[in-house]
Amino acid sequence: MSDCIFCKIINKEIPSEIIYEDDKVIAFKDVNPQSPIHVLVIPKEHIESANDIDDVNSNLISHIFLTIKDLAKELGIDREGYRIVNNCGEFGGQTVSHMHFHILGGRKFSWPPG
Ligand code: 5GP
Ligand code: ZN
Repeated sequence: MSDCIFCKIINKEIPSEIIYEDDKVIAFKDVNPQSPIHVLVIPKEHIESANDIDDVNSNLISHIFLTIKDLAKELGIDREGYRIVNNCGEFGGQTVSHMHFHILGGRKFSWPPG
């Protein structure tokens, strides 16, 4: 998707602080962090939202969660805990239409989110 900001990050057309990358996913620091640690994990394939997960691409979801688990350990937040967030669509608060998972750590969160 040529006009997708996250595809541009994947293609290194715009800079970002990438902390992990492989053939399927990329993880980078959120430009507007909501916690001391705020990382976005995204598939390299342009999938618009969680609504677009299907039998063909769903293997990416397990890969993303395995990546999140490894990154949480590397970032030193695995034991104290952290939040994984996926916002889907307008009411879910999704502002970038390339599916992404937030890793939020380094502070305690409350529930419900409001
Ligand atoms: P959403 O609200 O769609 O769940 O989350 C989008 C996230 O992407 C936001 O937290 C926002 O700060 C982040 N973001 C938007 N544009 C950029 C960018 O150009 N670079 C980086 N690193 N993060 C971005
Ligand atoms: Zn994209």
